[in-house]
Amino acid sequence: MVKGKKLRTYKKERLMEKNEKDMFAMAMQQLRIVAEKIDLDPNIYGILSHPERELTVAVPVKMDDGTVIVFTGYRVQHCSARGPCKGGLRYSHNVNLSEVKALAAWMTWKCALVNIPYGGAKGGVICDPFQLSKGELERLTRRYTVMILPIIGERKDIPAPDMNTDAQIMDWMMDTASMYEGRTILGIVTGKSVGLGGSLGRREATGRGVMISTLNLLKKLRIDPHQTSAAVQGFGNVGSVAAQLLNEVGLKVVAVSDISGAYYNPNGLNIKEMLAYVQTSKNHLLADYKEDGIQIISKDDLLLLDVDVLVPAALENQITGENAGLIRAKFIIEGANGPTSPEADEILEKRGIIAVPDILANAGGVIVSYFEWVQDLSPYFWDLDEINEKLAKILIKSFDKVWELSQKEGVGMRTAAYMIAVQRVAGAIRHRGIFP
Ligand code: NAD
Repeated sequence: MVKGKKLRTYKKERLMEKNEKDMFAMAMQQLRIVAEKIDLDPNIYGILSHPERELTVAVPVKMDDGTVIVFTGYRVQHCSARGPCKGGLRYSHNVNLSEVKALAAWMTWKCALVNIPYGGAKGGVICDPFQLSKGELERLTRRYTVMILPIIGERKDIPAPDMNTDAQIMDWMMDTASMYEGRTILGIVTGKSVGLGGSLGRREATGRGVMISTLNLLKKLRIDPHQTSAAVQGFGNVGSVAAQLLNEVGLKVVAVSDISGAYYNPNGLNIKEMLAYVQTSKNHLLADYKEDGIQIISKDDLLLLDVDVLVPAALENQITGENAGLIRAKFIIEGANGPTSPEADEILEKRGIIAVPDILANAGGVIVSYFEWVQDLSPYFWDLDEINEKLAKILIKSFDKVWELSQKEGVGMRTAAYMIAVQRVAGAIRHRGIFP
């Protein structure tokens, strides 16, 4: 530590306690609804309402000015009954333990729903990555990796990118773990750079899954994609690719937003131009983007636009009891994790709005992460067509299963998806038994 300078703790971390209670409670409320519906064994319900392991770590980072700031990081493993845990890593000043626990549980259901052999986990560090230099970000990532190293591993728990983390962060994590092990461990994280054990198609996989889910829903309802409009909240990894691919298959994308604002053009936005713009804009944001006929609207209003398809692809808890009654979209395809609260779900269902739940609509990312891991462990790498074909196959099969059950039981797609997923996880726990 630099002489005369005090050790500092990242200041925002204590501001988040209200949200902290909400997220895991919301995830457990969803589980409770389904547990009653499927008459889940109360012993198994008890197990699933507690994450297996919660690790909180202090992450001291030497900043460029010589001071040391101690960040707080988490890694939560919710359930490993079906295989090694899998889940992303999030960098945000909104990260808190309850959120990470909720996200870990959603990963358990997601992996079970699409039937890939993983349990659920999630990680996060409370920080504002946009305020960190590249060097600070690298030191933060490497120290965090070392702090969680005792519980991660290619056969134990495999992190991946999530909000504000990308292939570069994954490459640093892989390298750090490999330096400790004395050998290259490609399979310890997914979402790495292509050429460094990363898979073709992984970056686009979540947005591609959103597009596949949307098309599949439109097909079931015999709606022409070329007569369909869409609004997308979030223009990061998931939102930008979803907007691009939805546009490419014929939908008119009339609105997109990011943290800088919401951009609306009733005649359809030029998504190609927007994608090119954020390649070089500050923090890859749409701020100051210009286009003929474009209007700036409030970020909240984007959710209430009169469109056919709404894709929340930014944050959790966006459609709530407060605004669900005002949503005008006919279909919600959840690119983000947990964008709809259980109260909102009830309102949407009563209003006949179909929501394709996160654990299905955004599962493309973890499916191609699974492919990446399989390729890394082989190690033998596949071409893009093969990856996209296999992704579509798994996703459409899972979608159809959820759709059929929801029709048969007269329940929403979320309830149907949870019924399938929770039953699969419960089955694995039953077969394994309780140790000792
Ligand atoms: P990202 O950091 O790449 O993008 C997030 C986007 O949301 C950015 O454009 C940001 O500006 C925007 N945003 C933030 N606050 C906003 C607000 N108030 N209004 C509008 N836009 C706002 O993150 P991502 O990887 O695209 O993740 C987005 C969501 O998708 C998260 O919920 C994440 O958990 C989920 N998800 C991601 C993946 C993946 O593979 N990356 C997989 C499954 C689910």
